Amino acid sequence: MVIGMLGFQTTVSRPVTLSGTGVHSGAEVSITFNPAEVDTGVVFQRMHENGSVTELRAVSSQVGNTDLCTVLGFSPAHSVATIEHVMAAVYALGLDNVLIEVHGAEMPIMDGSSAPFIDAIEQVGLVSLGVKRRYIRITKPVRIEHGGSWSEFRPYDGTRFEVEIDFECPLIGRQKWEGDLTAQTFKTELSRARTFGFMRDVERLWASGHALGSSLENSVVISDDNTVINVEGLRYAKDEFVRHKALDAVGDLALAGAPFIGCYRSYRGGHKMNANALKALLSDPSAYEVVETSAARPRVAARDFIAVSAPGFAPWSA
Ligand SMILES: [Zn+2]
Repeated sequence: MVIGMLGFQTTVSRPVTLSGTGVHSGAEVSITFNPAEVDTGVVFQRMHENGSVTELRAVSSQVGNTDLCTVLGFSPAHSVATIEHVMAAVYALGLDNVLIEVHGAEMPIMDGSSAPFIDAIEQVGLVSLGVKRRYIRITKPVRIEHGGSWSEFRPYDGTRFEVEIDFECPLIGRQKWEGDLTAQTFKTELSRARTFGFMRDVERLWASGHALGSSLENSVVISDDNTVINVEGLRYAKDEFVRHKALDAVGDLALAGAPFIGCYRSYRGGHKMNANALKALLSDPSAYEVVETSAARPRVAARDFIAVSAPGFAPWSA
């Protein structure tokens, strides 16, 4: 197994800010990744105009809605939406501790992918905090099914995703992305894949006051005659669609509160299935153990991970 990380907790070396449009509200929003202490985890700080701050820990138990995107928090005034592409970048780069200051109700959609967030974080770089990172190691399969969809975690000597989609639309059809997740594979194979949608759905969403910020600048849009409307075409020939679904899965599973060691497989999944699979895993303590690396090397093997007694360590229940 290659876990391309040092096994030590990280944070960003200094603050970095991104601004853009919120895909749901259409409003201008900005976020700043600020350095954070050991064991902070990923915390969103929604800044209100009256100076108050709503803090939301990026963990499964704080997920309030997954209908159109993943929302943290349970009331519109005290939540942050569309966190999945940010979370995917944070997880894939191995950024453990960060305070994400949010001016607005949602993340900027940028180009509809995770690439701008990767670029921003890499621009300032990560620093090690010198304290071991904890992982969630899957020890037995956990599976959920809903209609014709299913998702499952399986024990695996590494961190792996196998994501498959099956659309009636002939342009998409059946597609699968599978691979071991490292910062490098995420950057080259998934990070640039954009959100996609069908023109008929976009029109319906606009009519109901949703997706007001969505445009060809941040979405791949498929016409009624099954062609890509965007003049630039696809970023990954044919299968940008499943790559984006894999990106979303990485971001949704980042809400475990710690990186996982195992394989996540899904068939015709989405935000809701990802969230429910994660809840099923975390609610079954016999299906995982908390481990940390016993080796201080850039590349660590499975044998280098040891189970730790960490009664106080349950970020997912925060
Ligand atoms: Zn997405």
